[in-house]
Amino acid sequence: MARLFDGVQANICWICREPGANSKEHKVKASDIKRQFRGAGMFVAAEGERGRPAQGPGSKHLKFQVPICHTCNTTRTQSADRAYDRVVRAVEQTTINQSEIDAAVQACLRQGDGGAFRYFGKLLGCQIADAGHPIPRRLGRFVAGEVRNAPLHLWARPDATYAEMTSERGGDIQYAAHGGLVIITKKPKFLPVGYASTTTIGPIQFHYRYSFGIFEKVAIRSCRDFTAECARAVVETPMTALDHRKYGYTLSPE
Ligand SMILES: [Zn+2]
Repeated sequence: MARLFDGVQANICWICREPGANSKEHKVKASDIKRQFRGAGMFVAAEGERGRPAQGPGSKHLKFQVPICHTCNTTRTQSADRAYDRVVRAVEQTTINQSEIDAAVQACLRQGDGGAFRYFGKLLGCQIADAGHPIPRRLGRFVAGEVRNAPLHLWARPDATYAEMTSERGGDIQYAAHGGLVIITKKPKFLPVGYASTTTIGPIQFHYRYSFGIFEKVAIRSCRDFTAECARAVVETPMTALDHRKYGYTLSPE
């Protein structure tokens, strides 16, 4: 069987598997950060942490740590970046109502070539690489444009954290967030069956998930350290009801 997962290797780009990885991807797209904050002071914070000031959209605090190659971060994914921009603009023009958001996302995905999926796939892969977990090779090939389809799901919804903040403080809040990496596991052994994450721009949270295919589910079993870590984490630090709401699982279309 062809190799289905790769670990992070120094200097190798996880998307094209070529050497020369020296370009760091933004966790939240620079144009979204500029539009959200428009020169206002920016703080970067993980949950439970005090914020660190960020100098601007180029701040290292706003980028993933594991680099990809310059070509994969620019020309190779340019059409995907633009497709993502179209989805964000369409969703921002809704009244932040779930059925309108769904219609806006679906209309964009139908019109385009699915490029927005490649953008979210790039974000997800960078998060997997930063966490040091096995990266599905098919995800890299899809992001690179070498294969047309990948088992990625995408939906959007009003962000629960943003809604809470506006109800406490009132008015519009300048806010952008990436939700960190979630590993989806399946009972009874809690073997990994996919990866998911979220990205929030203002009031809208995008949720994206990569589901392993049947061969990937088999292949991941040989990554024993990873599967043991997943099973242990499910038991020792299960997701709380608050985590579920924050990550939007209650609105999963599946
Ligand atoms: Zn590359």
